[in-house]
Amino acid sequence: MSNYDAIVVGAGLTGSALAYELAKQNRKVLLVEKNLNFSNGTVYSYGGIAYWCGTDDRTISLCQEGLKIQQNLTDELDYDIQYRDLDLLFTIPHAQNPDEVAKNYQDFWIKPELLSVEDSCNREPLLNGEAISGCLRFPHGHVNPRRVMEGYQKAFEKLGGEIREELVMDLETKGSRTVGIKTEEKSYFAEEIILCAGAFCRHLLAKVGVNLPIYFTHAQLIKTKPTDIKLRCLVMPSTTARFLMEKDVTALAKDSIWTNPSDDLQAEVLEPGAIQFLDGSLCLGQISQIRTNPHAPVAPRASEEKIRGAIAHYLPSLAHLEGQWHNCQVAFSKGVPFQVGRVDEMEGLSVFSGFTSPFVFVPPLARKFTHFLTTGEGDFTLKTS
Ligand SMILES: Cc1cc2nc3c(=O)[nH]c(=O)nc-3n(C[C@H](O)[C@H](O)[C@H](O)COP(=O)(O)OP(=O)(O)OC[C@H]3O[C@@H](n4cnc5c(N)ncnc54)[C@H](O)[C@@H]3O)c2cc1C
Repeated sequence: MSNYDAIVVGAGLTGSALAYELAKQNRKVLLVEKNLNFSNGTVYSYGGIAYWCGTDDRTISLCQEGLKIQQNLTDELDYDIQYRDLDLLFTIPHAQNPDEVAKNYQDFWIKPELLSVEDSCNREPLLNGEAISGCLRFPHGHVNPRRVMEGYQKAFEKLGGEIREELVMDLETKGSRTVGIKTEEKSYFAEEIILCAGAFCRHLLAKVGVNLPIYFTHAQLIKTKPTDIKLRCLVMPSTTARFLMEKDVTALAKDSIWTNPSDDLQAEVLEPGAIQFLDGSLCLGQISQIRTNPHAPVAPRASEEKIRGAIAHYLPSLAHLEGQWHNCQVAFSKGVPFQVGRVDEMEGLSVFSGFTSPFVFVPPLARKFTHFLTTGEGDFTLKTS
């Protein structure tokens, strides 16, 4: 009955990378994406490669491998993903003590360099020196996120992979086994169904009664047109507020907000940051909101004003550039940097999602998870609750 070895749902960074790795191992793969014009978390990303962020043997080794893959991906995919080395500057607000803030960043295998206000402004002349008491500098990698996704997709198709634009409505099951997907048009069957649908994994898992700790934020940002102004670094604030918000809204006591999705705003964090791409355009971010309905409406004007106001404080010359406001959903996991594995209580169903720092972790894990799926070697089991 199965027409494919694997069906991958969602063609953002995660789905495109995994579909490519599976096709490279001669699997017959269908990649299903609801919107090939893409307005997903991947195309609105900064594209930073946080290879410094490993904190234990496993994540450190993934960081090293992820960086190596990204550095060679242009050649491997035969598609320019615009890899470059780039400083990441975490701004420290004027009122905060830089030494105290630096203490929050000592668990990573690469420690940040603490820069004075003068050194920060030398590295990034667009910074407003009066807004900061210094910066933390990490060595970082950078790619064009859309081009990474496209590169994986094109290489996947060259290997014989098939991409279809359809909305997956449900999963086809037989007893405790997932055997396929149901789209608006028809059903497709495969040995393995792999959910790479980012924020929408939660909804698809709920359809078959599976509860995994995958959640999502609504992210808001502004994409500008190409400009002659030059931003040298990737600039972000040195705040852990988003991670604290994610921890808070996934605490057991708050489980009911996720089981009864609503448009209500549960929490919000604003992280004034900016990145410039090689074509001169910029992405100015970012607001992250918790609204448990993935389709919840967000008011664009108020959100854009907030982002521009915060950017005006740190990077004044960027605040009024002409640009377009966007909203997308971004998945995250509870307490771990990703959810990758076969679902224990549902044969034939896997999840590859919920990544923190996906631009470093996805490329190596797509390889390792493919190895597991094709050989059975390794341990990738997701325990449901
Ligand atoms: C402003 C911003 C800056 C960021 N900066 C960084 C950064 O510097 N470094 C970093 O590592 N990460 C960064 N991220 C996070 C990162 O971009 C995302 O986490 C990552 O790209 C998500 O990839 P994904 O494949 O999981 O999800 P997505 O890119 O959202 O892809 C999921 C896909 O699934 C499709 N889909 C969903 N439901 C269905 C369905 N039912 N049927 C068919 N298709 C479906 C969607 O249309 C979508 O295309 C940033 C995010 C934002 C918003």
